[in-house]
Amino acid sequence: MNISHIEHIGIAVKDIEESIKHYEEVLGLKCYGIEEVKDQKVKTAFFKVGDTKIELLESTDPDGPIGKFLDKRGEGIHHIAFATKDLVNDLGELDNKGVQLIDKKPRKGAEGLNIAFLHPKSTGGVLTELCECKCNCKNIDS
Ligand code: ZN
Repeated sequence: MNISHIEHIGIAVKDIEESIKHYEEVLGLKCYGIEEVKDQKVKTAFFKVGDTKIELLESTDPDGPIGKFLDKRGEGIHHIAFATKDLVNDLGELDNKGVQLIDKKPRKGAEGLNIAFLHPKSTGGVLTELCECKCNCKNIDS
């Protein structure tokens, strides 16, 4: 494993337009991208906060993962995503350590990044995402 930083924090919201307003007008952050990820049945909005992003997640289908989460737990933090360099290698390593993986192989997430989720049963109740960071983050090679 070679985690460099928290890539983003995913937050489940009911109404993404309302939430964008909150982050822009109350916290003074700027939304720089809105994207629908069909695979995950979500619409996402991104904000940069230093090296970390805030990813707002609005459900596009009540039976999708965010739809179910909102139904069960309401709005709030949904997952934490760590930036890593070699996702395939990490998943092999985690599998060997007996960590329960939701994704055994990387798949495409928002912003075209390779991502994989670890099961909250294996991570102390925190839905954990690994995100292969393609940028030249200052920490990634250190
Ligand atoms: Zn995410």
